[in-house]
Amino acid sequence: MNFWSSPEFDAHEQVCLFSDPPSGLRAIVAIHSTALGAAAGGTRFLRYASEDLALDDALRLSRAMSYKCALAGMPCGGGKAVLIGDPAHIKNSQLLHAYGSFLNRIGSTFATGEDVGMSVKDVETIREVSPYVAGTSQHGAGDPSVHTAIGIMHGLRAVLRRRFSRDSFEGMKIAIQGLGATGWNLAKRLKAERAQLIVADTRDELAQRANVELGAFVVPPADIHRAPVDIFSPCALGGIVTEQAAAEIRAGAVAGSANNQLASGSAGEALAARGILYAPDYVINAGGIISGLEEYLMIPGRSGVAEAPLSARLSGIEMRLDNIFERAARERRTPEATADALARELIGR
Ligand code: NAD
Repeated sequence: MNFWSSPEFDAHEQVCLFSDPPSGLRAIVAIHSTALGAAAGGTRFLRYASEDLALDDALRLSRAMSYKCALAGMPCGGGKAVLIGDPAHIKNSQLLHAYGSFLNRIGSTFATGEDVGMSVKDVETIREVSPYVAGTSQHGAGDPSVHTAIGIMHGLRAVLRRRFSRDSFEGMKIAIQGLGATGWNLAKRLKAERAQLIVADTRDELAQRANVELGAFVVPPADIHRAPVDIFSPCALGGIVTEQAAAEIRAGAVAGSANNQLASGSAGEALAARGILYAPDYVINAGGIISGLEEYLMIPGRSGVAEAPLSARLSGIEMRLDNIFERAARERRTPEATADALARELIGR
């Protein structure tokens, strides 16, 4: 494990490791930047193939949170936590409470919420011992994935306009990879706007349900990125747009909820070279964190008020992407390079 020379390290302000042998908890909290306020970022609970991969994931996701919060105009910095292990086997209230006491030791520098492998109920269990969580149904806006999906719908309108010169989803073919919390919500909304859905999920029952309830066409998970569609929407895990996948994608645009969709900068350049418009993930998927602002401001050590109502903050994603696409075209850069540069400016890097 090599912190300092890791390409993901990027001068993180703080990285904390914690273990609690009785419960089996192994946790990493990465805090990238607190330049705009105390760090916010979800907790991901996943069985990683190695500890190095878990650390890389925490660092990469934490930097993305810095960028996401900065561009969304949130008064907070970026951080992320990963819990290592199979949540189906080791997640229980003893482990979540041990994690809560770890959060208490870090204190007001970081607050967290749900991500892959965690639920609103899990966040509520952590809250029994720690105030440094948001996303509970009692105190906050509830399930963030609903707001993430609403934000993506706004972002997709910017994609429609820029790449397809259209303002309606009617008849557009959209391939959704992953029908979990965000993918399913998005699929329902797109169906209501008369889009044609092509879907895949490694949990076949979810894909079959989309076929029955939403009239979606189901393809095997390995083929979804190759589907001949207008928009490919990755809503599962990150890193799925590799250089090879970028050469195989047959959509005109890539835009979805997954964090860190591009496996590398060159994968993004390969998309752009083929005329495929990429919506930077941390811009289009910011709806969940945006919806948590009011609750975030109630966490000890925070202050301020939300200046605009939630619906206006969510619809801001559309304008933000319009600006990024416009500036990227003008400066002959990829949208993700443009978004990164804007975010780094905002956090003083
Ligand atoms: P989720 O766990 O509810 O859903 C993910 C789905 O993807 C699952 O149904 C899973 O079976 C499926 N899947 C996994 N690997 C797959 C593959 N190779 N092919 C097809 N399907 C596959 O997670 P979620 O909350 O919907 O989050 C999805 C992504 O969006 C994650 O990257 C997450 O970090 C990101 N994200 C989520 C939110 C949120 O509000 N939940 C906000 C911002 C970003």
